[in-house]
Amino acid sequence: MTVLADRWRAARPKVAGLHLDSGACSRQSLAVIDAATQHARHEAEVGGYVAAAAAAPVIDAGRSAIAVLTGMTASDVVFTTGANHALDLLLSSWTGPRTVACLPGEYGPNLAVMAANGFDVRVLPADRTGRLVVDEAATALAVSPPGLVHLTALASHRGIVQPARELAEVCHGVGLPLVIDAAQAFGHIDCAVGADAVYSSSRKWIAGPRGVGMLAITPALAERLRPRLPPPEWNLPFTVMQSLEHGEANLAARVGLSVALGENLAAGPENIRAVLAELGRLTRTTLADVDGWRVVEPVDEPTAITTLQATAGADPQRVRAWLIAERGIVTTYAEVQRAPFEMAAPVLRVSPHVDTTADDLEIFAEALVAATSEV
Ligand SMILES: *Cc1c(COP(=O)(O)O)cnc(C)c1O
Repeated sequence: MTVLADRWRAARPKVAGLHLDSGACSRQSLAVIDAATQHARHEAEVGGYVAAAAAAPVIDAGRSAIAVLTGMTASDVVFTTGANHALDLLLSSWTGPRTVACLPGEYGPNLAVMAANGFDVRVLPADRTGRLVVDEAATALAVSPPGLVHLTALASHRGIVQPARELAEVCHGVGLPLVIDAAQAFGHIDCAVGADAVYSSSRKWIAGPRGVGMLAITPALAERLRPRLPPPEWNLPFTVMQSLEHGEANLAARVGLSVALGENLAAGPENIRAVLAELGRLTRTTLADVDGWRVVEPVDEPTAITTLQATAGADPQRVRAWLIAERGIVTTYAEVQRAPFEMAAPVLRVSPHVDTTADDLEIFAEALVAATSEV
């Protein structure tokens, strides 16, 4: 645990204060920053398109890493500008019935993408914590099958792991495609669970640059898609995957993401997952007794996302601002729009990465006590 923590810390610029905001944006390594910078320089030296050709092997290595982490193959992967863009690409290419089943805790911006693409939403059964109830879902999906099933494997507003592999088995049993939002899951929990499509952003747990993401689709599902651009009736000689990745892109960001993916594989995705799960447990234990707050997740939930609900009227938005201004501690204010059909009130989210120590968490707990009495 400490070897990984030390390497992670040594590979990055020195942090100013405490960074407990990996669920929003992790700290990139110097190698990732340098690779993206180097690519931008190379574009100026030899021209953007010549530089792009030179960077192709790096970006292909990134594609292969995404394939490993999602259980797909490199040719199943396209780069996007983020997770929401990936979902929009997929849904705007959909040829089947425009009905989608998802959990009550579905991510608000995903619901917006679904609505904008004309999808009707059906609700999957969940327990009190927001976790999918698999056997009830199996019955509901068999009785009244939607066009597709969408699962956010790990939510933004709550660090609960969804039973993605079990749902994939259910979906395959009844012949329904399963699409997984892995924006919080990628680089954090296992994402190679047998889904038909998996998408994510780069800047969260995998610690790549902002403004880039990915979408992996099995060939069987890709065959059923009809990308909106270029117009299919023009019969241009593009495959579905080529159409989906068509267009201008920030190649420097893709290079950076590819390097971050290489670092993840080198460190061992399972090692990172294990340390993150342990940090989640430590965070929840450390914060269990802070007055005025309730930890939402079960202590042993294997994620590094901990959310705190105010029990005595503290305002998470003001507390977050105070922590930054007074202590240099970055957390997240998660407003109810993140999960409009599940959240009753905003929460404060604490999302440490593998370099966070027990001492850091103690410092945070003390700062939270101070913040709660100050604001
Ligand atoms: C951050 C997030 C997204 C959106 O990711 P972008 O790359 O910003 O589009 C989608 N789903 C979940 C669960 C997220 O946490």
